Amino acid sequence: MGIRAVVNAPDWSGVHHRGEAKCRDGSLMPTRNRDVFFEDEALALDICNGTYDGRVCPRRTECLRVAMVNKENYGIWGGMTAKDRLDMRMRHPGMPERWIWHSPGEPEPLSNEENQWPAAS
Ligand code: SF4
Repeated sequence: MGIRAVVNAPDWSGVHHRGEAKCRDGSLMPTRNRDVFFEDEALALDICNGTYDGRVCPRRTECLRVAMVNKENYGIWGGMTAKDRLDMRMRHPGMPERWIWHSPGEPEPLSNEENQWPAAS
């Protein structure tokens, strides 16, 4: 039995109107010999959330949506760890409108128009 994604990964490239996913930018990776998104979670979070270079990934909301819907259990997605995503899913089962990025330890933002998930494309 294979594992099938519920939501297909969108086009993460710079051609997309929201811009390129930062994890595609090799210049942000200290070495190309390892995947920081699986091997250095602290650095990966810094890249996603802008503490590394002052710029939040323009695809963060969409990335989190893909990971949450697909129940990605490994790695950093959408600027959150697998544990934080699982915690959020357990707190709000079946409520994707509450699956919104927030910094660990911070209260979750209320769902509002600004935080609505963009349509995956
Ligand atoms: S938020 Fe997602 S798309 Fe953006 S850098 Fe992080 S893992 Fe990549």
